[in-house]
Amino acid sequence: MSEVTVVGLGPMGSTMAETFLTAGHQVKVWNRTASKAEPLVAKGAGRAATAADGDLLVVSQISYEAMYNSLGDARLDGKVVVNLSSDSPERLRAAARWVSERGGTLVTGGIMVPPPGIGQPGAYTFYSGPKDVLDRHAATLEALSEITYVGEDEGLAMMYYQAQLLIFWSSLTSHMHAMAMLRTAGVSPLEFLPFVRETFTQLGGDGPMGYAKILAEEVAAGTYPGEQNSLHMQAVGMGHVVEALEEAGVETTVPRALQALFERADAEGRGHEGLGTVIESISKP
Ligand code: NDP
Repeated sequence: MSEVTVVGLGPMGSTMAETFLTAGHQVKVWNRTASKAEPLVAKGAGRAATAADGDLLVVSQISYEAMYNSLGDARLDGKVVVNLSSDSPERLRAAARWVSERGGTLVTGGIMVPPPGIGQPGAYTFYSGPKDVLDRHAATLEALSEITYVGEDEGLAMMYYQAQLLIFWSSLTSHMHAMAMLRTAGVSPLEFLPFVRETFTQLGGDGPMGYAKILAEEVAAGTYPGEQNSLHMQAVGMGHVVEALEEAGVETTVPRALQALFERADAEGRGHEGLGTVIESISKP
């Protein structure tokens, strides 16, 4: 079993430390607010003297700025820092240089589960950075989740992670707009839920509503057939969605933004193509 220091004891870091302990690793913990270490120390973790106390540092904090604050000007010679915090890809690349200048190596990651999912079947983490270093610590990190390595570029794990979060937050916010509209007509969220689940299932499937796959294939090919359901029809339809929300008296910022995007692609002369053509407008802001 190996030694690991967990830096950052929010809901994620605390669960990671506990998961490492359960897997039998020797765990030290460090947090800016030291009292958050207490429950983990009670379960067998050691207290790290500083955030840099250990050869393998697994970091989970609000942002990469917190890592700079926590490590300060400590030398990191020979140490491996695995940072699983959220931030922008460029900040991750800058952090890799920062860690390297101090003698250490940064492996970046974006973990795709909330605290209760850590260490559970189905959990996975996008990792990027030096593969040989990741491989050396794979046996330890696998306690948290499956390892999904996406490439050398340290920013890449975060690009995958932010891509997934964009889909997560935007689809769930649309679900909230839908619930807000329906409840003005007395429809409870639980009455509507079976239909929402059906939509999410179908979007990820292989059938005629399997738009995750349909759009990926269209974008890969660069062709967006619209004979059956043109973008123009969908831009008009999106206008009706906005009107329905307005009639119900709910706010419309995000739906209006979608309408504007569809209408722009239509105005650019691609209304006869399918929904996928919107990516050409997204790619040229
Ligand atoms: P937070 O994102 O709220 O992070 C809390 C941790 O960050 C605490 O340890 C806190 O220390 C530390 N911190 C904040 N500011 C600083 C600072 N300036 N200097 C030093 N430490 C600081 O909690 P989570 O545990 O939920 O998330 C951790 C990371 O995991 C985030 O990047 C998040 O986006 C990501 N994530 C979260 C998921 C979730 O469901 N919670 C799911 C997947 C990823 P202190 O206790 O002293 O305030």
